[in-house]
Amino acid sequence: MNSTPTVLRDLRIDAQRLWQSLMALAQIGATEKGGVCRLALTDLDKQGRDLVTSWAREAGMKITVDQIGNVFMRREGRNPDLPPIMTGSHIDTQPTGGKFDGNYGVLAGLEVVRCLNDHGIETEAAIEVAFWTNEEGSRFVPVMMGSGVFAGAFSLEHAYQARDQEGKTVREELERIGYIGSEVPGQHPIGAYFETHIEQGPVLEDAGKTIGVVSGSLGIRWFDCTVTGMEAHAGPTPMPLRRDALQVATQLMQAVVACAQQRAPHARGTVGMVQVHPNSRNVIPGRVKFSMDLRHTTDAGVDAMADQIRSLAQSLQASTGLTIEMNLVSSYPATAFHDECVSAVMAATEQLGYSHMSVVSGAGHDAIYAARLAPSGMIFIPCKDGISHNEIEDAKPEDIAAGCNVLLHAMLGKAKVVRPS
Ligand SMILES: [Zn+2]
Repeated sequence: MNSTPTVLRDLRIDAQRLWQSLMALAQIGATEKGGVCRLALTDLDKQGRDLVTSWAREAGMKITVDQIGNVFMRREGRNPDLPPIMTGSHIDTQPTGGKFDGNYGVLAGLEVVRCLNDHGIETEAAIEVAFWTNEEGSRFVPVMMGSGVFAGAFSLEHAYQARDQEGKTVREELERIGYIGSEVPGQHPIGAYFETHIEQGPVLEDAGKTIGVVSGSLGIRWFDCTVTGMEAHAGPTPMPLRRDALQVATQLMQAVVACAQQRAPHARGTVGMVQVHPNSRNVIPGRVKFSMDLRHTTDAGVDAMADQIRSLAQSLQASTGLTIEMNLVSSYPATAFHDECVSAVMAATEQLGYSHMSVVSGAGHDAIYAARLAPSGMIFIPCKDGISHNEIEDAKPEDIAAGCNVLLHAMLGKAKVVRPS
């Protein structure tokens, strides 16, 4: 047993052991370019699952598997009646995935447990480390499948029937690799949930910060817009007599970007697809279709962005006489992580003295579904050039260690230490 710091706040994880575990897991499905291809419910996923659970058993943890193959690894607390303080992520990858996406969140949790074991530290509530089935959604749709079933976002039957390109179902593949458990998804108490993850974006690296304290995930609204005017010859038609759909559409496109800039730094406005009819150099455009992707930290914020654009559309329609349609095609709610968990992450970060900033998640994570059931929070660390879902995905060992130390202290704050020996 390692010597335990007399003051609990001096406790640190074993950075080298965490790094070695990450590199060992990355061997399973390793690609030539230094990445990982370990698709959900394949033989390689089974090998990854077997390795992680064997490490958990060595650390004295008890394993439970639910009917969608989510795995919960438990280190008992002194009070079995308290719901566990949980962390986790996923170990499936994209076909051209990296070593850190998901795997870091799971192995950081395991390292927290190993660290507590090293120092003989008992907690009041149990500590659990989860890995959720098919987070990536690459082989089977929908994404975040295990945590989605767990949170009741869609049914177990719906997930079971999902097929890969060869026609194999999730249920068959779960049975084949031996990871179809008996516990009903969602019937597993969680006192609080934390997830460490590489940022998968450029914000932390750009700001030179070590820790992103994640406040939540962005609400998303997708619209299809159509502006209808009248095609006419570009030469004989004088400017005041035109009904130029593109000139009106570009004003709306500018507004999409402007309304996000007005709400910096956590709003996003993107026009990614444009179709101009008839798309001819000497014809005044008669019809323009384009997409709008609006995002904001709150649903009220993203709805206000949509309202702002809608009222501009109405005034443009009135002043030009052109027809403007704006149809909502998809909507995803914003998730605010729980104040208690966000402040637990912030407190741990400050106590440890890491540089930090508040960030929002633009991508989906298991923690976003966990947040429907329990107070949840996330810890981001920088990744090189903000790149992930790519074999060149990379993160610095010192950042990997920092995020895990934050996780350790955030979890200990919630699980309550009983007896540092
Ligand atoms: Zn991930």
